[in-house]
Amino acid sequence: MPGANSNTDIERKPPWLRAQIPGGRTYQQLQGLVKTHRLHTVCASARCPNLGECWNRGIATVMILGDVCTRSCGFCAIETGRPSAADFGEPARVADAVRIMGLRHVVITSVARDELADGGSEIWARTIRAVRRANPETSIEVLIPDFRGHWEDLHRVLDAEPDILNHNVETVPSLHKLVRPQAGYERSLEVLRRSKERGFTTKTSIMLGLGEAEDELLKVFQDLVDIKVDILTLGQYLRPSKNHLPVRRWVTPEDFARLKATALTMGFGVCESAPLVRSSYHADEQSEKYTRQTVGKAAC
Ligand code: SF4
Repeated sequence: MPGANSNTDIERKPPWLRAQIPGGRTYQQLQGLVKTHRLHTVCASARCPNLGECWNRGIATVMILGDVCTRSCGFCAIETGRPSAADFGEPARVADAVRIMGLRHVVITSVARDELADGGSEIWARTIRAVRRANPETSIEVLIPDFRGHWEDLHRVLDAEPDILNHNVETVPSLHKLVRPQAGYERSLEVLRRSKERGFTTKTSIMLGLGEAEDELLKVFQDLVDIKVDILTLGQYLRPSKNHLPVRRWVTPEDFARLKATALTMGFGVCESAPLVRSSYHADEQSEKYTRQTVGKAAC
């Protein structure tokens, strides 16, 4: 890809990666709500660079099933360890927080809970239903784990009928062992394929700058198009700490724009592609855009 360099120094981010400093009234309100409802957000736990901007827009990605993960992905800032017991009061608290925030679109995600017999899928399903009951007008996007390929767990979540099924492939197959040692590329494709088979709008995300080659990336695009994934997001990988995988390349905004054009030509319905794009970044707009496009298509 043009624009490649060998900079692996986390301190030397290029100028296009400056994010908004957290602050402001809506940010403070959201912070208070997260505290009073004993919620976790992936924004804070994963040290997302967009936290300031998103929270100021009144948007947060709620993380259920605790803030300790049973996996140890090489890029992720979320703590690895032994999580506390599943909290069956959590679905009602999430539903209430969404109601207070008055969200049109909510993104819910979770850590991986591989130690639980059902992978946490029962709490997932209860959360979706509770949010729906309390907020019938809110569209619900779920960013789910792979449930170790236990498909009955995936179907338990799908039975609760979220609006968008999001599962991240994160990177190209050759980097999976390094980036997501307890996951698998084929398994992730299967999560998306099975969800689409049941009629869900599907979405996935890829981080760039971990050492992927462009031909591998385009092959992943094709694999995703083949299983009819609707929404693709592409963003720059940022190293959360020196203990995480190094950045291999800063992808330029021009390259992100070029890859977006390629993705749309290949057949994705929506592609968000820019250095600071994350899986949940502007998810409300992506969802609206996708709905508009599909409605438009149906009318033709
Ligand atoms: S499974 Fe998800 S939350 Fe857990 S370490 Fe990997 S990316 Fe982070």
